[in-house]
Amino acid sequence: MNNPRPCYLQIAIDTPLNAVFDYRWQCEAGQRPQIGQLALVSFARREVVGLIVGVADHTDVPVDKLKDALAVRSQLSPLSAKWLALAGFAADYYQRPLGEVALPGLPKNLRVLTTVALDRAIKKLAKLEVPHDPTPANPPSLNASQQEAADAIGGAQGFKPSLLYGVTGSGKTEVYLQACAQVLAREPDGQILILVPEINLTPQLEGNIRARFPGVMLATLHSSLSEGERMLHWLAAHEGKARIVLGTRLAILSSLPHLKLIVIDEEHDPSYKQQEGLRYSARDLAVWRAWQLQIPIVLGSATPSLESWHHAQSGRYRKLELRERAVKNAVLPTVKLIDMERDKPSDGLTSQLVAAIKQRMERGEQSLLFLNRRGYAPVICCESCGWISECTRCTSFMVLHRPEHRLRCHHCSLEMRIPRHCPTCGNVDLQPLGRGTQRVEEGLQAMFPEARVLRIDADSTRKKGSAQEAFDTVHRGEVDILIGTQMVAKGHDFKKLTLVGILNPDTALFSQDYRASERLFAQLMQVAGRAGRAGIPSEVLIQTRYPQHPLYGAVVHHDYDHFASALLEEREQAALPPYLFQALLRAEARELATAIEFLNMARDCVEHPGITINDPIPMTMTRVHNVDRAQLLVESPSRPALQAFLKEWMHALREMKSRVKWSLEVDPLDI
Ligand SMILES: [Zn+2]
Ligand SMILES: [Zn+2]
Repeated sequence: MNNPRPCYLQIAIDTPLNAVFDYRWQCEAGQRPQIGQLALVSFARREVVGLIVGVADHTDVPVDKLKDALAVRSQLSPLSAKWLALAGFAADYYQRPLGEVALPGLPKNLRVLTTVALDRAIKKLAKLEVPHDPTPANPPSLNASQQEAADAIGGAQGFKPSLLYGVTGSGKTEVYLQACAQVLAREPDGQILILVPEINLTPQLEGNIRARFPGVMLATLHSSLSEGERMLHWLAAHEGKARIVLGTRLAILSSLPHLKLIVIDEEHDPSYKQQEGLRYSARDLAVWRAWQLQIPIVLGSATPSLESWHHAQSGRYRKLELRERAVKNAVLPTVKLIDMERDKPSDGLTSQLVAAIKQRMERGEQSLLFLNRRGYAPVICCESCGWISECTRCTSFMVLHRPEHRLRCHHCSLEMRIPRHCPTCGNVDLQPLGRGTQRVEEGLQAMFPEARVLRIDADSTRKKGSAQEAFDTVHRGEVDILIGTQMVAKGHDFKKLTLVGILNPDTALFSQDYRASERLFAQLMQVAGRAGRAGIPSEVLIQTRYPQHPLYGAVVHHDYDHFASALLEEREQAALPPYLFQALLRAEARELATAIEFLNMARDCVEHPGITINDPIPMTMTRVHNVDRAQLLVESPSRPALQAFLKEWMHALREMKSRVKWSLEVDPLDI
C-alpha cells in the first residue's frame, strides 16, 4: 500500500486579485488530480470552487501558509488544455485575471459548494438519447450561389474564416444548415457551434435544426435557461454528446472537445459584445478559437460589421456572396423616403404611410411599424413653466408609461406615479412630449378601430415565453399591424408582411458616436428585410426630415457595398477603428471630480510611448443611479503596442488601490 503523498495544486479563483493560488492535496495512489478539474477550496474565509491550472510536487509557498484543498470534483472530466488556453487568451486580451474569465464562463451549478446538481445532470445526461431511426426533413434545394457557399464552408479544412454576405431573405440559414450537414457527415464525433445574437431568434432556428438533424443531439446555451437546464446542456457539450450547440454570446466559452465548425449568424450584431463584467466580443473570441483549433468559421450578415468587411476586402476573410432572395419570385422590397417636412405627420404617421397601411388592411396583408423607443412618450412637460420629467438619479428623463400610469427611468428603474400637477408651478395640464411605441399603438387603434394591432417591445414581453407567444400570433396571421422596437427587426420571417414603416430614425444621423451611422444602416436594412420574404411585392416607407442624407440613399438602393466602402474610407482618413485600436478606462464616483481626478492620475502613472491617451471626459450620460461616470480613451495604431501598454498599465492601476471603482474595456463599441 502506498501512503498518500502530498502534491500542490495551482488553483484559479474568481477574484480580481492575483487569480492563482497554491493548495496542498493528499494524493491517494494513482489519484493525482488533473489540470482542468474543479476543486473546492477555502479562500478568504469562504469556501469556493476554483479551477486547477497546475499540479506540482513542490511549491514555494511556506508550509505554514499552505491550506489543503477540500475536495476535487473528479466526477467531471477535466476541461481541456485548449479550453484553458482559450480562457487564458481572453484573460490576457481583456486584461482580467484568469479566474475572473474562466469560472464565470461555467454554469453556476458547477460553482456551488455541493455536487448535487452536477451528479443529477450526469445521471440525466447518461439517460438522454436521440431518436433511434430518425427521418430528417428534406433540405430545400439551394440556388447556385447558396450551393457554392455551403460547399465552400462545409468543405473547408483548417483555419478558413468566411464572410457570408447575403441580402436579407437570401437563405443564409439554409447555407449554414447544409454546411453543417457536410461537417457532421465527415467528422464522426465532430461538434458545431452556432452563435445567434438574440434569444428570441433561437426557437425558429432551433426547430429547423431539430427537424434537419433529428439523429444528432442539440444543446442550447443562453441566459433564459434555468440553472438545471444550463448545467445539463453545458455538460452535453463538454462530454461531446451534443454535436450541435446553439447559443448566444455566452456559448463561446462553452467546452467543446471536438469542435469542427463555428457559425456566427448576424455577426454585426452589437449583442455579441458583453457590456458589463468581462467585456468580451464573442465574435472576436470565436475567430481566435477557430484559429486555435485550425477549423473553419463563417460569419454571416446582410450588413457586416466594418471590421469584418475590412478583413474581407483585404483578403483575410474569404467573401461568399448571396445577391438574391432564396424564395422564388421574392425580390427585395421597394424602399421609399417620405419627407416629413412636406407630409406632416399626425399621431406620428404621415398620410402616405397611413394610406399604405389601409391598403394592406384591405388586401389582408400585414404591416410592421418600427420605432426604437418604448413607452408612451420619452418625457412629460409643463407648458406653463417648462418643467420636464427628469430622473433625480440620472442624466436622463423619466419616460411616460401611460397604460401602467407610471413614469419610469429606463436607466436606473426609478418609478413613480404620474404627477397630477406640475411639481414646480402646480399647473395640472402636463403634456407628453414625443412618442414611443405605446403612443403609436394608441394612435393606430384610433385610426383603424377594426384592425388587430399588436405591440412587441420589452414592456409587452416581460413574462417568460410571452415574446414567443406574441410572434406566434403574428405568424398565424392574427395580427394586421405590428408595432415594435428592435425586437421585431431581426430574423423573423413573417409570410404576410408586405409593408414596413420606419418612424423617426433621424436622431442617429447626428450622434457623436462614430459607429451610429453603421448601426443605423444595419438596423434599417434588417427591419426593411422583414418585408416581402414570401414573394409578394412589398415596400418600406421611411419617415424622415432628411431625405437627402446619403445614408438613406444607400438604404433606398440596398447598397451596402458602397456605403461600407465610403465609411471605411472615412474611418481610415479620420484614423478610427478598424484602422486604429482602442481601449477605454471608465471610472465611477459619487462626485464627477473624483472620477476625473482618478483618470488624470491613471493617465500619468506609466510611460506610454506610441500610445495616445486622451483627456478624461464625463461620459455622455454622466450620472446613472446617483453615480457619476467619466472615461479615458487610449489609442494606438499597433495592436501589440496597445496590448503591451495595457498589461503594464493595469498592473500599475491595481497597485494604486484607489477607492474609485474603475473598469477597462478593450475594443469598446460605445464611446
Ligand atoms: Zn409647471
Ligand atoms: Zn434614473
